[in-house]
Amino acid sequence: MEATSKRLELTDMLSKLLSKAGEDTEMLVYLVQGKIAPDYEGIELGMSEKLIAKALVSITSMDEKEIARMMARSGDMGTVSQEVIAERVQSTLEKQDITVKRVFNALTEIAQTSGEGSVTKKLALYKDLVLNGTPVEAKYITRIITGKMRLGVSDATIITALVAAFSYEGDPAEIENAYNCHPDMGYIAGLLRKGLTDKIREASPQPLVPVKVMLAERLTSVDEILEKLGGTCAAEYKYDGLRTQIHFDGKTVKIFSRGTEETTSNFPDIVRAFTETFHCKSCILDGESVPYNPETGELYPFQMVSQRRGRKYDLEGKLHEIPIVVFLFDILYLDGSSLLAVPYPERRKKLESLFTENDHFKPATRIVSSNAHEIMEFFERSISDGCEGIVAKSVGADSYYRAGARGWQWIKFKRDYQKELSDSLDLVVLGAFSGHGRRKGTYGALLMGVYDHRRDIFETVCKLGTGFTDDVLFNLPKILADYRSPNKPNNVNSILEPDVWFYPSIVLEVRGAEITVSPVHTCAFSSVVSGSGLSLRFPRFTGNFRKDKKGDQCTTTEEVLSMFNNQKKKGA
Ligand code: AMP
Repeated sequence: MEATSKRLELTDMLSKLLSKAGEDTEMLVYLVQGKIAPDYEGIELGMSEKLIAKALVSITSMDEKEIARMMARSGDMGTVSQEVIAERVQSTLEKQDITVKRVFNALTEIAQTSGEGSVTKKLALYKDLVLNGTPVEAKYITRIITGKMRLGVSDATIITALVAAFSYEGDPAEIENAYNCHPDMGYIAGLLRKGLTDKIREASPQPLVPVKVMLAERLTSVDEILEKLGGTCAAEYKYDGLRTQIHFDGKTVKIFSRGTEETTSNFPDIVRAFTETFHCKSCILDGESVPYNPETGELYPFQMVSQRRGRKYDLEGKLHEIPIVVFLFDILYLDGSSLLAVPYPERRKKLESLFTENDHFKPATRIVSSNAHEIMEFFERSISDGCEGIVAKSVGADSYYRAGARGWQWIKFKRDYQKELSDSLDLVVLGAFSGHGRRKGTYGALLMGVYDHRRDIFETVCKLGTGFTDDVLFNLPKILADYRSPNKPNNVNSILEPDVWFYPSIVLEVRGAEITVSPVHTCAFSSVVSGSGLSLRFPRFTGNFRKDKKGDQCTTTEEVLSMFNNQKKKGA
């Protein structure tokens, strides 16, 4: 799988593997992505490359410097362990079989080991695996443990492989939908393996398991929005904060981010306030957290909330400095029932009747209107109240909550759309070109990309060299070091050949002047002009690392294409 750059071939190999896997299916589905559990469980194997080097030293007569030299040569600890096991270990030990289950259990034990003596125990578990395995097994076990499996197996690839492996007769979109409601690929694979197809079709949210958030399309005028939404819409303030999904199962409150990461520990104040504010049996709420001044009601910039992310120390102190209010705009589940298929107007009514607004929770400000002038006034008011614009929502009978999907039921309209290029783009770093002159020792430019969902591939859209502070610029090699790939990752499509390749992981917010046709970029290749792609002209980094987005949550090819078409419409 690692050797192929053809998506079809990769999917085919994976589906053959899964069709023969029996009870190992669920475990394999995690392992091919280098995990042992869904992302939202936040499980880390917690073994650094340094620790692996130590283990390799202790099972051979090699010294640490020699391992470091091998590491410098290959840049991959997996390859180093493969070579070490192949060439340097004369095992007297009678090798036992390395089964999937044994690897999985050992990895789980490594993840669960903490506290005193845990390093020794982790080392022992690792050594036991690699000494019993073949060199190739050592390579992949090491990659999983160090968090660098990187076979390019995306969720979409696994879903396609599962459909083929278990001859799923329904629409593959049903599986995708089930995964969006319950983003645990092991769980989904288990349902398919056991033939529980009803559960796939009727997938619904479950409190404490994050639901993939619904996303918005974009348009550049209120008239277009009204036309698209059938003449009437609900316009809500578009708050500039952090997407916040709050779960309650009757006992526990959990908070998840836009990327289904659990962030409960960053919001102890919201968790406390939740139980005082809401008195239901169970629920899942969707909203945006914004820092604000409770005295004046003034909203503060998003950056003040991001300081909370990953902040372990002094959190309580920080809470008093930056109070947070969650503007709730949706409800996905209430008292044992899913509300995903309930139209938005009813969901909103239920949400409003569920609580009395206070300093921590408020319903998103909104109007329902068919009048473009009135909506434009509301839009202006949102800007002067410190928001980014509006999200217009369908009030139609089909305005249900589409987990994980970007659809025309929600349409964002931002102030930036009236200036230069509509919106900023969130582009993923795919490669880098070495710097010269003043930029010697760092990168001169980054090769930036977008994601094509349909083909499950990353495509290039511009070279980015502007907008970096000196500090960030000279730290770029360090910031990106962990994501370096020895060659072009198999899910990247590029004409340009940068000096360094990266696994598509780090997302940067980028602004630009316009979208143009370009023969050297692969974004939407041949969709507009045969033999050319689309590219972002005069790109500049805004300074915002989108840490809340994973690689495949960057701007999509379809979005760039629609930005290009919008531009054309306006005669730009
Ligand atoms: P964008 O990040 O520009 O794609 O805009 C979509 C994001 O706007 C959502 O993911 C939310 O985090 C945020 N947002 C703010 N206010 C609202 C609202 N009233 N309805 C939906 N999303 C909102």
